Amino acid sequence: VIIQSENLIRIVTQTFANSGCSDEEALRIATRLTSANLTGHDSHGVLRVPRYVMWMETGDLVPGRTINVVSQNETIAVVDGLQGFGQSVGEQAVQLGIDMAQKSGLSIVALRNSGHLGRIGDWAEMAIEEGLISIHFVNVAGSVLVAPFGGIDARMATNPVTIGVPMGDKPPLLLDFATSLVAEGKVMVAAKGGKPLPEGSLINKDGDLTTDPVALYGTFDAAAGDGRDGGGAIRAMGDHKGSGLAFMCEMLAGALTGGGCADVETQYFHNGMLSIYIKPGEFGDQNQFVQDALTYVDYFKAAKPAKDFDEVLVPGEPEQRRRADRLANGIEISDDGWQAIADCARQSGVSEDDIAAATA
Ligand code: NAD
Repeated sequence: VIIQSENLIRIVTQTFANSGCSDEEALRIATRLTSANLTGHDSHGVLRVPRYVMWMETGDLVPGRTINVVSQNETIAVVDGLQGFGQSVGEQAVQLGIDMAQKSGLSIVALRNSGHLGRIGDWAEMAIEEGLISIHFVNVAGSVLVAPFGGIDARMATNPVTIGVPMGDKPPLLLDFATSLVAEGKVMVAAKGGKPLPEGSLINKDGDLTTDPVALYGTFDAAAGDGRDGGGAIRAMGDHKGSGLAFMCEMLAGALTGGGCADVETQYFHNGMLSIYIKPGEFGDQNQFVQDALTYVDYFKAAKPAKDFDEVLVPGEPEQRRRADRLANGIEISDDGWQAIADCARQSGVSEDDIAAATA
């Protein structure tokens, strides 16, 4: 089905408002999830709705939370998300970092115990809107899925790293990726008979590279959910380099924030995020910085395209193009995915008319 973004936001807002969130928080969650879909990162978009609602029922996600400031000086703040929605406590932590960096030129905010923070690029975009560079390291305690380089057993999560650089009135530069070769969502899609995984995405319990989701899940039972007893794992991107980057996310976003590193004992999902905010104007002439950066962007993009490529893109460009396209033409969601969202909306009390109107 193809759904316009405003219809998606409306249905998801109603679902969370009916499930115990305030109208304001429900709208915030719906807008952020839809924003991930708009940029093309469907694995972090509205497909998460049923799982979020389930986590509200189990108490793993708590509506209405405000960050608790554990400690703060001029440049450093340590804050606890208290298992609030990442869309709420994440936004508060990022706003704090922005306010501090506007005053002193630099700030570092350590966020622990946050509910799912979604697409981390959203947080860099918030800083970009205020003219700030930002760097984010994220870990995911309670979601051990990725093998270290040279190992078989999962020891890390998909630990994303994100860097955002504002370019004045020109499109910003935004690098935002998971350090695993593929997102878990993609393994699940493949397990259900969908798009096959790229070569070598997984390592099985015997240490062989494979594309077979059984390596991660054991025998996959869609009804029973994702038992992760295959004895294998997802591989980190870039061999020792990606594995090392993911490891450092555990150090910075897990150990340093106080949120904890990945381990099998942690039963509930929570993100840790170490964010650094930088005011470029503190480093010299702001206009000169943007001009130099844009000159380099042109030089970079002018590289002759390789075989099977039409052009060279800078980080953030694919998302900007997809957002323009999906805002104009709507967001495509698989029938299965939409059914799960509609069922969840229905169970929360959204009317059949409202559900039908979303896809009309
Ligand atoms: P991905 O593999 O699509 O990579 C995206 C990055 O690569 C972007 O910066 C994009 O601009 C750039 N890019 C893509 N194609 C390009 C091209 N042809 N030329 C130049 N640059 C290009 O992303 P991913 O690893 O699948 O991550 C998806 C999302 O998942 C991210 O937004 C991430 O923040 C999020 N995530 C969140 C969590 C969490 O716990 N909250 C965990 C993992 C991932």
